[in-house]
Amino acid sequence: MVEAISETYSPLLKQQLTPQNIVTTCGATEALYATFQAFVDPGDEVITFEPFFDTYLGAVIMAGGKLKPIPLRLPNKNSNDLKSSDFTFDREELKQAFNEKTKLIVLNTPHNPTGKVFTLDEMEFIAQLVRDHPRCIVIADEVYEWITFDNATHHRIATLDGMWERTVTISSAAKTFSVTGWKIGWAIGSPDLIAAVTKAHVYVIFSIVTPLQDSVARSLRYALANNFYQELRESYLKKRDFLVDALRKAGLSPIVPQGSFFILVNVKDIKLRPDQGMNTITNLNMDTKDWKISRWLTTDIGVTTIPCSSFYSEENKCEDYVRFAFCKTDEILEKAAEKLLQITNQQDKE
Ligand code: PMP
Repeated sequence: MVEAISETYSPLLKQQLTPQNIVTTCGATEALYATFQAFVDPGDEVITFEPFFDTYLGAVIMAGGKLKPIPLRLPNKNSNDLKSSDFTFDREELKQAFNEKTKLIVLNTPHNPTGKVFTLDEMEFIAQLVRDHPRCIVIADEVYEWITFDNATHHRIATLDGMWERTVTISSAAKTFSVTGWKIGWAIGSPDLIAAVTKAHVYVIFSIVTPLQDSVARSLRYALANNFYQELRESYLKKRDFLVDALRKAGLSPIVPQGSFFILVNVKDIKLRPDQGMNTITNLNMDTKDWKISRWLTTDIGVTTIPCSSFYSEENKCEDYVRFAFCKTDEILEKAAEKLLQITNQQDKE
């Protein structure tokens, strides 16, 4: 699998990759965990954009570090017309977040849960801050690297000037080959960085499942030889457009994603009756609006969403969004579209 990864990524990362540049991991999740363990010491700070994939917070805390979230914000404009590219960060705020304790910045593009694909200009700005802070390195979480739409291009921060020595690029087979359960991932970088990640990795899990590595190696080679990535993109584009349309027909305002297979919907204005979306499943404190809506959608409508408050830190908790996913068969998406039409009938009209 290391050889197949090297064939795929050498041109993409503009490096001739050898086994010293690659460590294979138990999914991107373990690659992230091992990388945080390798580089974060107690007191270190890790910057990332918020909302963020929830693993980052737990893994940073377990390494003794502190996560510093930088908000991605939407403009005040008509909510029927929003795209993931409308999410932007305040450059001054990001600059101010860097200090002598900053050890890592995690750049997840295409971004979960917003679907934002960071532009080259944004990436250049981030890279310059990293160059200005010699202690800081980058985790580039690129698990949705092949799933981009419209005119969005996936850029790789490791290819920018001086960034190869400063970046651990992480991806996995999960999203690209629709095998999330396989847990086969990888981290790629300069030999020094990868040696450190490998040291952590061997104490977490030692090695990963061999037969699945063999399958993923074949899949990577098949993908290159058969234009698979283009097909993947086209197939997800159709699914995205279908679900965006279905959500609009159901009276919701989807934020159209330029990458990933997720769609955020603001649910602030949905009114539920007191008996809808009640917490009967667990005793945990999951009574925010997004949890209630997600429970109601699951039990009464028949379509399950992820409540997005879990993608925020405690300090900035936001309960306005739920996340739909379109990594489903066309038949399931069609069924979901039908079910979503019941939304308008079910809402509290008062
Ligand atoms: N990073 C991001 C941004 C993700 O969304 C996910 C999966 N939800 C992962 C990493 C983990 O990938 P894997 O399944 O390969 O562990």
